[in-house]
Amino acid sequence: MSDTSTVETREFQTEVRQLLHLMIHSLYSNREIFLRELVSNASDACDKLRFTAIDQPELLGADALAITLMPDASAGTLTIKDNGIGMSRDEVIENLGTIARSGTKRFMESLSGDQKKDSQLIGQFGVGFYSAFIVADRVTVLTKRADVEEAVRWESTGEGEFTLERAFKTDRGTEVILHLRDDAKEYLEDYRLRALIQRYSDHVGLPIRLQKTEGEPEMLNQGRAFWTRPKAELKDEDYQAFYKHITHDFETPLAWAHHKVEGTLEYTSLLYLPQRAPFDLWDRDQARGVQLYVKRVFIMDKAAELLPAYLRFVRGLVDTADLPLNVSREILQGNRTVDKIRSALVKRVLDMLDDLAKTRGEDFIKFWETFGAVFKEGIIEDAGNRERVARLCRFASTTAQANELGTLDAYIERMAEGQSKIYYLTADSLAAARNSPHLEGFRAKGYEVLLLTDRIDEWVVAHLNEYQGKPLESVARASKDVESEIETPDKIQLEESFKTVVERLQGVLGARVESVRLSSRLTESPSCLVASEHGLSRRLEDILRRSGEAVPDSKPILEINGSHPLVTRLQQAAEGDFADLAELLYGQAVLAEGAQLDDPSAFVKSLNALVLGAAAEQAPRIIV
Ligand code: ADP
Ligand code: MG
Repeated sequence: MSDTSTVETREFQTEVRQLLHLMIHSLYSNREIFLRELVSNASDACDKLRFTAIDQPELLGADALAITLMPDASAGTLTIKDNGIGMSRDEVIENLGTIARSGTKRFMESLSGDQKKDSQLIGQFGVGFYSAFIVADRVTVLTKRADVEEAVRWESTGEGEFTLERAFKTDRGTEVILHLRDDAKEYLEDYRLRALIQRYSDHVGLPIRLQKTEGEPEMLNQGRAFWTRPKAELKDEDYQAFYKHITHDFETPLAWAHHKVEGTLEYTSLLYLPQRAPFDLWDRDQARGVQLYVKRVFIMDKAAELLPAYLRFVRGLVDTADLPLNVSREILQGNRTVDKIRSALVKRVLDMLDDLAKTRGEDFIKFWETFGAVFKEGIIEDAGNRERVARLCRFASTTAQANELGTLDAYIERMAEGQSKIYYLTADSLAAARNSPHLEGFRAKGYEVLLLTDRIDEWVVAHLNEYQGKPLESVARASKDVESEIETPDKIQLEESFKTVVERLQGVLGARVESVRLSSRLTESPSCLVASEHGLSRRLEDILRRSGEAVPDSKPILEINGSHPLVTRLQQAAEGDFADLAELLYGQAVLAEGAQLDDPSAFVKSLNALVLGAAAEQAPRIIV
């Protein structure tokens, strides 16, 4: 145990030192954000007290929760005071001396060098407290935790060390005293503080007061929970400011939806569609979700149960009177009220997206490009809303221009005479998809094919068997229906004349293919591989194999194009030549899929033999 009656000096964790150095020396161009960060911490501390007081009401005491700004011109200090939960000695060391959060490292990595942008990142990465040092050359924190006797005084100049000692403070809460730098004395001015609170913190659900050394305190904000205010009273700017307050995002949201519901279910929801993806959108272990309040009391951040995973990009909050105040994450799981709220929220989000697609097409595409690959998971995850989700999805296709994306409804409208299915092709990239031999027959027929290039698409099409009564079908699969749709009239005749070739090919390729057959889908390329009618798609097999999963060893069907010279050459080819041609047809079909050859050297050998053979054949002719 250390002696808490004397001053103890401690070193900041290395990362904190780096961060502080950065704050002080480079992030001053947008330095006013320190106030937003400190007010936000004070507000969090009050939320925490309210929450703790659910079980220990005696902690609350008589005075209402509030945040007070106290400028003192003669001392050159600005104090931000709250009567929230406060911190114990250990908490002070933990919270104001180390950065345990993984966000810090990412923050340091994501700095762009653009001061304005970088300073806005500070809050988002949960390193807000240290922004105090942008305007202060010394920061003192006096704090007393609500349920602890001892009060603590923390102080630092932001240069590698901080001191800790016992403090005299009898009321709970925290005072952050900023000894303002000479060039930051503007933050002692009333008008400056008033304007900053209005800009950044008007929506904080607590009174924020300005208390001068003399006179009555002045209220600086509305002081009531933002979402409880009537919609008619709120302007776009208000919604945007509140969004920034709860997310620390510096970008304005793309859209929002604010609803008050009264009836069998009672809740208020305020849901936002961000413009940017969070840095950890793809991190599966990352907690996400909207905030949960019960009767205005903050209960938890990122309540994952309130929205399905495919809507994890939605930010905002839900405030309900239908859950008990002591609700825990365990209670949320499988709770019927929560289930009802969740399905209502899903509808709200889908409505919001419908509306965005209808009224602001460009913004919708922005949304799609940022979150589309996540949203698509809804087709897999949310059977009840599958059609609605699918209707909102956007796809590249063979008819669309380079980067144009279209809907399934538009696809159906464009369907060719006699076409009964929605065709798609999955590939690793759009370029690979557009060049795939599988498309040739469909192109010739004038059938549009959707080009799906996200990894998730393989699972999406596995779950979306049909849309608007139209089955979805892969152009790279050996389905009877597909073949009969694109078949040419002389197919039977051709098949007859290639009977021996097909049999010989099968003999040469052996176990590498399930079978060989004449293709209906090829018009330019000599060969391609297709997946058998049932079983996994070739690309899905590949994805699974690459991620180390055991995949049943299914074999592809090799299709050959009867009108291609390489293939007709097979009809007269001698034994050795035939084997080399077979190797070539199989090998290039594998390569066209973007896959890897099992035996590249055998392929190269056959290729060289064929090229040299052709050269030898031609050589005498040149002499003659
Ligand atoms: P964040 O708010 O994202 O957690 P900060 O750097 O702003 O990160 O604050 C670090 C931590 O310090 C907070 O999580 C909180 O535990 C503690 N803290 C800061 N200010 C206060 C305060 N006024 N009252 C109680 N705890 C505080
Ligand atoms: Mg903070």
